[in-house]
Amino acid sequence: MSSKAAIYDDLQQFTTQQKKNSGFDTVVKNSTFYLSVLFGLTAIIIYFYLTALANTQVRETAIKNAQVYLHALAEFRSLYTSEVVVKVKNHGTSHGIEITHDYKDKKDAIPLPATLSMMLGSRLGGSESGVSSRLYSPYPFPWRVADQGLNDDFSRQAWQALQSDPGRSYYSFEMYKGKMSLRYARADIMTPSCIGCHNSHADSPKDDWKAGDVRGVLEIITPIDSDIGSVNTMIQHTLLLLILILFLALVGIRSVMRKLNVRSLEARQLAVQAAEINHKLELEVSYRKEAQQKLLEMSLTDGLTGIANRRKFDQELLAEWRRAKRDGTYLSLIMLDVDEFKAYNDNYGHQSGDGVLSSLATAISAKVQRITDHFCRYGGEEFVLLLANTPSCEAQKLAEKVRVCAEQLALEHNYSTTAKVVTISLGLATLQPAEGKSYDELVKAADVALYAAKDAGRNRLAVHQVD
Ligand code: GH3
Ligand code: MG
Ligand code: MG
Repeated sequence: MSSKAAIYDDLQQFTTQQKKNSGFDTVVKNSTFYLSVLFGLTAIIIYFYLTALANTQVRETAIKNAQVYLHALAEFRSLYTSEVVVKVKNHGTSHGIEITHDYKDKKDAIPLPATLSMMLGSRLGGSESGVSSRLYSPYPFPWRVADQGLNDDFSRQAWQALQSDPGRSYYSFEMYKGKMSLRYARADIMTPSCIGCHNSHADSPKDDWKAGDVRGVLEIITPIDSDIGSVNTMIQHTLLLLILILFLALVGIRSVMRKLNVRSLEARQLAVQAAEINHKLELEVSYRKEAQQKLLEMSLTDGLTGIANRRKFDQELLAEWRRAKRDGTYLSLIMLDVDEFKAYNDNYGHQSGDGVLSSLATAISAKVQRITDHFCRYGGEEFVLLLANTPSCEAQKLAEKVRVCAEQLALEHNYSTTAKVVTISLGLATLQPAEGKSYDELVKAADVALYAAKDAGRNRLAVHQVD
């Protein structure tokens, strides 16, 4: 592939690459969509994660609060039992003080511990927190059958669970009276201070209680609706803020991408322009090199015959002289001159004379085949044959071959005194270049030999021994 074609190919490839790169623009445009989807998914994931986290937190807090509440209630009841009920029972009854569930209707009566506990629970249930408590068992006193029995699934399951493992708590998150609530239950254990009453009370549904028996279930009901609601509102506000931040980030990224896209487009256009200019410059340089090469060749070529000219001969002579001097080889020079050429021109015309010179040059060139043989037009109707690394004997053979070649062209020359055809005379000189010698000697010697050939009758070779 020529250098021009290679450059053009490069430019084509570059342009094709640029066209492919323009697909990048589409990617940049779609990036906004991809980022929006990514941000949207991020917001959704964060929303669900925060919701799950907050719900877990609300539930754990509700459980802890219920434990505290339950503990306080149990402590209150046991304190009331030990510090009030037992003392009244031991001393108060003699003063006519009765301990009964219906104490309100009686003048000198105080509530049973369970009655007081339930009252406390129902009062707290009426408060803003909405926390309430229940005390129940499968053995309610007759006046509590309606509200103390195991009247729903949770109470039954809690009773079962706490019967088998009284040390644990039992809880569940479920709808209770239309609200999502924590129902947290603990076993209510029969204590020695209570056992006497329960086993001896006339209305007691069970009279074989032992200390440590699970006598009932103490349950705390904590609505968590409002907590979940307020946490969800906070999460929604946080989410809105997050969406706003992501939206602003998206707008910022989009604007940066647009700017980058414009810059990238400009850079690519500049690159294409630069490549085109570069391509033109390379073509220009290539044209100039070719023109220079042609000029150089023209400056070293003879216009009429197309063989090397005198200038080229001078260059080759200098180069071969140096090489022969370095290598210690013989350098032979043959000078050729057309015989009686003035008469030819005068009689056949100058144009025919040019034709003769051209024919001779072509024919003799064909005889000169070695790359180190240089055939040049010396000037006028004179030629030179410079033979590198050629001793005199070999040069003589070639000179004779050339002379015969010219003669055999049989170019009519009826005005020559030498022959009826155009002939040439040749002068040969051979020299081994050495220190103190000059190539001028070789040229002069060949010239002398040529004159000798002319003097000897033309159409012949004369050899001049320089050494
Ligand atoms: P000699 O045998 O002694 O060489 O005789 P000659 O006539 O060849 O030599 P002379 O120097 O007297 O004449 C040379 C002629 O060669 C004169 C000139 O017109 C002719 N000549 C030189 N260069 C050219 C050329 O380029 N074209 C043509 N047609 N003639 C040329
Ligand atoms: Mg001459
Ligand atoms: Mg001549």
